[in-house]
Amino acid sequence: MLEKSALYIVATPIGNLNDISLRALNILKAVDVVAVENIQNSKHLLAAHGISTQLMSLHQHNEISATNKILTLLNEGQSVALITDAGTPAISDPGALLVQQVRAKGHPVIPIPGANAAICALSAAGVMHPHFFFFGFLSAKPVARKRELLQFKSQEYPIIFYEAPHRIIECVEDMIEIIGADRTLIVARELTKLFETIHIGSLIETLDWLKSDSNQQKGEFVLILSGAEKLDKPLVSESAQTTLNYLLAELPLRQAVKLATAITGENKNALYQLALQLKQPDQLTE
Ligand code: SAM
Repeated sequence: MLEKSALYIVATPIGNLNDISLRALNILKAVDVVAVENIQNSKHLLAAHGISTQLMSLHQHNEISATNKILTLLNEGQSVALITDAGTPAISDPGALLVQQVRAKGHPVIPIPGANAAICALSAAGVMHPHFFFFGFLSAKPVARKRELLQFKSQEYPIIFYEAPHRIIECVEDMIEIIGADRTLIVARELTKLFETIHIGSLIETLDWLKSDSNQQKGEFVLILSGAEKLDKPLVSESAQTTLNYLLAELPLRQAVKLATAITGENKNALYQLALQLKQPDQLTE
């Protein structure tokens, strides 16, 4: 069941200790070593599931040395699992460098999927758009954060952010300043935990809600900012424009418009106005 010299990237819960797959538990039991972001946090999770595998530490500040250590273990034929404090490793979490290095050395890297805060929030938010953009954490510095937000002003997809409790108010204030007060924001707080809350409102209403109850400013946050309104649909579809263009090349304007209306079923007036724009001025002799 377990591959030798393999690195397993194992998703762990984002709050509720039961949100871990059977496969993840089996792998964590079977590997030689589990690399963890925080020994204390992971001991708690692993003990809750009766796992006593040897642990080593891999976090933001020792990722290079920990990666070298893990490469040595893999070279010796041992198998290693990586977990972080919550959710899926390498998603706004350490792990990408390790994965990249292990792949480069030709060892198998095997994902064991599970919880992820962004997907968890999206799944319960009722967002109708078929696409989304994941940004993760905005910069902690106000000027850089505003610059990052500016790029989303006309972005049409919902955008998912992670945010820390001590920055939640200033983050929403910056969104109002850069994006505007009316855009919808979904706040998904403390997902899978006791005080799980999903609040949906305009940015300005959400700011009032956060400010009016300091409890709502506590815990962990996923923010889903709705996308910009689509620009007005053109009066004539792209395919009708193409049809009209072909007909205009061969026929007088009125006849081309009449035929284009019959073929495409689109608005005759709109097609006529477009035909006037498309036809060369010297052809407008009818
Ligand atoms: N790797 C994780 C994942 O797969 O979602 C994300 C790790 S990132 C360091 C931690 C951030 O994820 C938190 O600051 C918060 O924005 C978000 N997050 C994690 N757990 C959450 C939860 N239970 N509810 C809401 N947001 C959560």
